[in-house]
Amino acid sequence: MMIDMGLEITHLGSGSRGNATLIVSNDSKILIDCGFSLKQTELRLSRISIDPKTIDAIIVTHHHGDHSKSALRASEKWNARLYSNTETAIKMGWNPISECRTFANLERLEISRNLSVLPIPVPHDDAENIALIVSNGDGIRAGFVTDLGEATVELKRHLKGCSHISIEANYDHQRLMQGPYPDSLKRRITGRGGHLSNSQTADILSEILTPDLKTIVLCHLSDKNNAPHIAESEVLMQISDDFEGSIFISGQDGPNFKIIAG
Ligand SMILES: [Zn+2]
Ligand SMILES: [Zn+2]
Repeated sequence: MMIDMGLEITHLGSGSRGNATLIVSNDSKILIDCGFSLKQTELRLSRISIDPKTIDAIIVTHHHGDHSKSALRASEKWNARLYSNTETAIKMGWNPISECRTFANLERLEISRNLSVLPIPVPHDDAENIALIVSNGDGIRAGFVTDLGEATVELKRHLKGCSHISIEANYDHQRLMQGPYPDSLKRRITGRGGHLSNSQTADILSEILTPDLKTIVLCHLSDKNNAPHIAESEVLMQISDDFEGSIFISGQDGPNFKIIAG
């Protein structure tokens, strides 16, 4: 029997210019999203001494370039299996037989004996975006949630009991409203199909908080409409009474830290 080591989580970077998160279990390595150039992705992996050819699978959450950019080329070069739901594969023009494996939302994907992934649909623009719950054989669960206008009841149900959650805190409402974006774009960002504000993220976390939750990463922060200290303080203000774990921020440049959920 293998000794379990929990789930190791490293954000290679997060934001509108690219997203990729490495998750390592005791028998496999996966990337959630591959939104940097191939060269950048390999460079960032080399900084943490990961040989890209050891990555087993790349799971793309939705077709937007900041999540999908080099996914197909990386999967071909590294010989890693590429996964997405059918709608994303169609939007990307990926051949669902020769280039990627498609899954249905809410269908558990067994990546390896000790790593599985559950895709949960979330509302976001014109995309069929998904949040992901990654589990290992010991029942350790980690949630990854970016690019959504609001959390669904279903998503919150699955986030409850996770040991780790990476979730977007895209914008500070006041900064967005007073900032330079045109009204139409402001409406899109704040709408059901847009992104989560700091206070929406804080609300979701306070709703799903249990003593199991040990680490939180706030990610996909907007350069123009947010700042790390604002996002962190807004979240802490809401949850600090009941949360004894640690909060990290993943910026556009990384990797800067590794989290072990377990
Ligand atoms: Zn994005
Ligand atoms: Zn998006």
